Amino acid sequence: MFKKILIANRGEIALRVIRTCKEMGIKTVAVYSTADKDSLHVRFADEAVCIGAAPSRDSYLNIPRIIAAAEITNADAIHPGYGFLSENAEFSKICEEYKIKFIGASPEMINKMGDKATAKATMEEAGVPTVPGSKGLLKSLEDGKKIAAEMGYPVIVKATAGGGGKGMRIIKTEADFKKGWDDARQESGAAFGNDALYLEKYIEEPRHIEIQIIGDSDGRACHLSERDCSIQRRHQKLVEETPSPFITDELRDAMGKAAIKGAEAIGYEGAGTIEFLVDKHRNFYFMEMNTRIQVEHPITEEVTDFDLIKEQIKVAAGEKISGKNYYPKLFAMECRINAEDPSNGFRPSPGKIINLHLPGGKGVRIDSHVYAGYVIPPNYDSMIAKLIISGQTREEVIVRMKRALEEFVIDGIKTTIPFHIALLEDENFKAGNFTTKFLEDFDFSKI
Ligand code: ADP
Repeated sequence: MFKKILIANRGEIALRVIRTCKEMGIKTVAVYSTADKDSLHVRFADEAVCIGAAPSRDSYLNIPRIIAAAEITNADAIHPGYGFLSENAEFSKICEEYKIKFIGASPEMINKMGDKATAKATMEEAGVPTVPGSKGLLKSLEDGKKIAAEMGYPVIVKATAGGGGKGMRIIKTEADFKKGWDDARQESGAAFGNDALYLEKYIEEPRHIEIQIIGDSDGRACHLSERDCSIQRRHQKLVEETPSPFITDELRDAMGKAAIKGAEAIGYEGAGTIEFLVDKHRNFYFMEMNTRIQVEHPITEEVTDFDLIKEQIKVAAGEKISGKNYYPKLFAMECRINAEDPSNGFRPSPGKIINLHLPGGKGVRIDSHVYAGYVIPPNYDSMIAKLIISGQTREEVIVRMKRALEEFVIDGIKTTIPFHIALLEDENFKAGNFTTKFLEDFDFSKI
């Protein structure tokens, strides 16, 4: 087993990894930017190394500085968390070269799954159903138009390098094609330095349902059931739950089997997520694979008794999985608490937290790095806490979530808490009746 793990990340996920390492008796190294010097991950790690200034490219995205920090502290592995360098093939490769174990996917795997058009082609070849669309990248605007006409509108053009909902546009008619194409290329070029696009049939009112998988170095994979992430704003998740109120036992088995087939076809090692869109007839289509731990992983932990970070570390150290699949024994839901103002278009609201009270009680888990007096830097992601609730039934989870949100006090900044309370009062949400379009029609004036 590893003796010392460096966590190449910040915020709640850095703290989350440190917690598991402590329980496993593994020493930890935090890295931090000057903006994060007062952050809890710095305080809770055994050692901490400042790696640069606030902008991510000078710190959390700066590979030479992170490798130097691992070398001087003698860390034998690096956990990248999510975001930043977690799906960066070059970083994974450099870790390999320096004989530091990267607790994540191999460079080859990241390359294969990180390019979304290649990932789709690979999964299709493995026999996993995929969203109908272009075979690979679009060669030109004309090529895109031709494929869209054959397929029928609406379509969606997507950045092959995409992530976080960026670089995609829904196109409803041929007359709108050029604008959608130009906008998606512009956005993906700016965000990823790669403006190559592919095209998919736009699935009307789908659910976003993903399967958590774990694979080991023998090439064996198992699944840990699904997470329903359909509550999204601008293609970004805000609430996740498991089991999905839409999924039947047969569908879970079919999707689980498809996810395992995909993972085993590529020899996937570690924790990963296979994302699917599910249409109203319960047909499911592979959309993309994430080769890292995800923000919403705790809901799976709450219903299966797994510590997914521990599983990642064990598999990276060469341990084998049992090969058994895992099914939800409870119900769980996560609300992302962001420093954003939901009554003002979710505008970011960084600043100082004057007063903080965290909810507690049965079935309440909070993963967060903030405390009273903490100043949220404007440089990074706006998520400041994850409120994760578990219970015996979905109804119990909803009631418990609402009372926990009402107990939550965060003074000094605006947060998404009022939005979550309004959502939990919505009759359609309570009935489990929603798709990825749900928030487009949501009445935000009632917040
Ligand atoms: P990213 O990698 O940026 O997160 P995804 O490919 O995972 O992008 O898509 C994000 C969201 O966009 C999905 O959860 C879904 O809501 C929507 N979406 C993507 N592709 C389609 C499609 N073909 N039809 C309908 N909605 C889609």
